[in-house]
Amino acid sequence: MKIADIQLLPGTLPLDPPFDAAWDPVPRTRFDATVVKVVTDEGVAGYGSGDTMAGFEPYAELFLGQDPMAISRHVRTLETIAFHAGRYWPLEIALWDVIGKVLGVPVATLFGGAATAIPAYASTGRILPAEQRAEMMTGVRDRGFQAAKIRLAADDFAGGIRTMRAVREAVGPEMTLMADLNQAWRMPGDVRPSLDPAEVRRFAAALREADVFWLEEPLPLDDRPGLRAVRDAGVRVAGGEMVRTFSELLDLVASDALDVYQPDVALAAGMLRARTLAELALARNRLFTPHTWSNGLGLLANLHVTAGVGGGPYLEFPYDPPVWTPQRRDFLLSAPLDIDGDGLLHVPSAPGLGAAVDEDRFGR
Ligand SMILES: [Mg+2]
Repeated sequence: MKIADIQLLPGTLPLDPPFDAAWDPVPRTRFDATVVKVVTDEGVAGYGSGDTMAGFEPYAELFLGQDPMAISRHVRTLETIAFHAGRYWPLEIALWDVIGKVLGVPVATLFGGAATAIPAYASTGRILPAEQRAEMMTGVRDRGFQAAKIRLAADDFAGGIRTMRAVREAVGPEMTLMADLNQAWRMPGDVRPSLDPAEVRRFAAALREADVFWLEEPLPLDDRPGLRAVRDAGVRVAGGEMVRTFSELLDLVASDALDVYQPDVALAAGMLRARTLAELALARNRLFTPHTWSNGLGLLANLHVTAGVGGGPYLEFPYDPPVWTPQRRDFLLSAPLDIDGDGLLHVPSAPGLGAAVDEDRFGR
């Protein structure tokens, strides 16, 4: 079998209403996504998405005519390209979709088949006043989520503590809550200084009162001693969602800087490398549960890897209505992914990723 064609299909969803200022100082009015479609000479089609494929075209010839099943070869090739250009992991996702379809099994089975469903955590993107976030979170709980993560303002620790206390009071003691300070990577042009490690430790200690399951990216990943000191303040530390190489991931595990490893398979180092990282982390009694914040196909790829390797205990489910809804997130799919009544996100049982990709939604 050979890879006969690699197509890049652009899709755009107008955002009306747009992303509000609670999300991003620059309002966003559209959501763009590119789907990678791999077609074999036997007519099997696989789909991937999640990161930009800008600049990929000159490299397509490195894959055309190759056996789609030779995934290690393709991953190594993508890593050589990543040094010179972009990280084109959506192509790896599409190849796994092909492999699963050829073999007639879900991709999660190829990654170990440890679970068929994972409890989802509702993951927020807006920074809201404490009362508003607490009210929203009662809706999240009532919708069936067992867990949720709240994005907090890095420049307002008092507000963050108020928010976590208010949410805990509103949702009760049962729900698992996490908090994210987003200090490990920057949007282009953001050169503000990092948070003060001593203040972060005091903040982490204060969060214990709200029973916070993990604090995410409280400091830059370069500050390994600082991250370990936050852990010593009594809260699990999560990070690694957007590292750029496999060696960074290996180094994080070797230095035991984190309790929760979160490399997004669509954005960080791909699916195969994420599996290796997950096995190393799990062997050291740490957690593996990736960032999933791209689009529905990216979420699905992360779900298959996490369920396959036995990650968890929760999987990120980007959800912050009315701005970020499953319908917007998954506009590439004919139906959005959603949790069941117990808050579980199920691995589709169809071969491959099990994605119902709706090609009519892309401008071709
Ligand atoms: Mg995060």
